[in-house]
Amino acid sequence: MPPYNPLQKFGLNSVTAAFSRKQDGNMSLCYGDVPGSPENRKKFLAAIGIDYRDLICAKQVHGKNIEYVTEENKGRGALDYDSSFTDTDGFVTDKKGLPIAILTADCLSVFIYDPLRPAVAILHAGWRGTEKNICAEGIRVMRERFGSRPQSLLAGFGPSIRSCCFEVEKDFKSNFPFGLIERSGRIFMDIALINRRQLAGCGVKEENIFDPKVCTFSDNDNYFSFRKEAKNAGRLISVIMLK
Ligand SMILES: [Zn+2]
Repeated sequence: MPPYNPLQKFGLNSVTAAFSRKQDGNMSLCYGDVPGSPENRKKFLAAIGIDYRDLICAKQVHGKNIEYVTEENKGRGALDYDSSFTDTDGFVTDKKGLPIAILTADCLSVFIYDPLRPAVAILHAGWRGTEKNICAEGIRVMRERFGSRPQSLLAGFGPSIRSCCFEVEKDFKSNFPFGLIERSGRIFMDIALINRRQLAGCGVKEENIFDPKVCTFSDNDNYFSFRKEAKNAGRLISVIMLK
């Protein structure tokens, strides 16, 4: 199977965007079965025209700090975890040939493309990042840096744990005014819906948000899930690059 492109619905040829599957192997240099990761990255990224040595990665902390990156940051976190950006959960760039990535196992990755500037963003939206509205922060940075207009932006979601499986504590109700579903006295979170509404709240058009609706927990054969595999879970990669 070719790598899944979450922006393919828009028929774009000036941006590369993809997320990996379990079959592509672990992509993390820090979690899961690490020794094979460089080779996994090399293979997966080569198939979409990316040199794995160029990759830019973060030490993600479920925050909402988003870094603007340029050529001089190329390769940070590509070959060793230590050189990754610290305290970072998203990247933006308007430079071509610069692959920016997020690594996840249940958390939602959000791909954003501004075809006019052009510019791209990749965001790590777990429930903590979602609570902090990292989508709004990403768009704020894109507006400030690039003069992006929200109504022109195209967004795509990666795989994540979905409302079918994402049970949360009852006290989440006080932090999330919408996107929680009650079933048999248990609370489930629709993290994709919340991020969709947050994007829309910034002015992104509903028809410009694409969601492949993949649940990492339900489809654990094809995707890593932290809830299902705990500390053994590898990470899938979500990557975007301007061509
Ligand atoms: Zn599920």
